[in-house]
Amino acid sequence: MSYKEYPKVELHLHLEGGAPPAFIRQLAHEKKTDLSRIFREDGSYEYRDFDHFLTVYEAACSVLQTPEDFRRLVLAVMEQSAENGVVYSETFLSPDFCGGGDLSAWREYLHAMQEAADEAERKMGVTLRGIITCIRHFGPEKAKPIALCAAETMGDFITGFGMAGAEMVGRPGDYSYAFDMAREAGLRLTCHAGEWGGPDMVADTLRDLAPERIGHGVNAIHDLALVDRIAEDGIVLEVCPGSNVFLGATGDWPEHPIRMLRERGVKVTVSTDDPPYFGTTMTREFEGLARAFDWTEDDFAELNRTALDAAFCDDATKDKIAKLLEAT
Ligand SMILES: [Zn+2]
Repeated sequence: MSYKEYPKVELHLHLEGGAPPAFIRQLAHEKKTDLSRIFREDGSYEYRDFDHFLTVYEAACSVLQTPEDFRRLVLAVMEQSAENGVVYSETFLSPDFCGGGDLSAWREYLHAMQEAADEAERKMGVTLRGIITCIRHFGPEKAKPIALCAAETMGDFITGFGMAGAEMVGRPGDYSYAFDMAREAGLRLTCHAGEWGGPDMVADTLRDLAPERIGHGVNAIHDLALVDRIAEDGIVLEVCPGSNVFLGATGDWPEHPIRMLRERGVKVTVSTDDPPYFGTTMTREFEGLARAFDWTEDDFAELNRTALDAAFCDDATKDKIAKLLEAT
């Protein structure tokens, strides 16, 4: 069956990484910037491996310059989400790309994005919340002003703080100052770990940064004692199977660890990560899991409930989304 219309909750989506290539091409055209090197002839993004992906990603981000660009970006990304049945989404926002981490500049970008999120909710029926992320490969010092941006602008829309970027740069504890600042401000925490790093990276992230969710976390599977601890502690994994398969972070769909993690009692959720870069959508994620593991609507209903429980929004928003999920 097609899962396109089936309602979905997504927790792990990078805003810039969700930018449809046609949108970036249009923006590059308007700004008279030549980005032809990052596109294939069919119009999709072109890159060789994970490091090159980060280079292409940053080149695409280079045409996202003004608050107005980011307002349009939010609408373009949410249009894709809504088309794929997403009713609630949390997206990673990077002040590094929005005014270089300067707080007053960030406020302007945030205002524009929040306006777009409100418009997307009214017109497309998809509710969006923002998680501010520092970029790991920019280093711990750069993470501090980003945590300050998060602490100063938290509210109904900005509900969480996290870390993205190249996982193998530094150790989790290097970033504890930024995470402590965000935690003390009352933000909910998530952190990428265990996509490229091994179980030790997941364990160190939990020990040193104490997030309640882990982005990816799939390599925890190589240490079953750790898997059991993650299950017992109720840590939620934001699993992105299509991204993992595409980049080779895991084996192919039938070998993807999400099934074993779930069967061992870990709270798993499903997301797209950077969908147009990995040729995926939330519909394709659900369909890939249905094909690989014979998962059915009952399984997806459970994944949605787990994701909504782990969402960083307030209870009134959760109740509203729960009613939408129940209506199907
Ligand atoms: Zn990610």
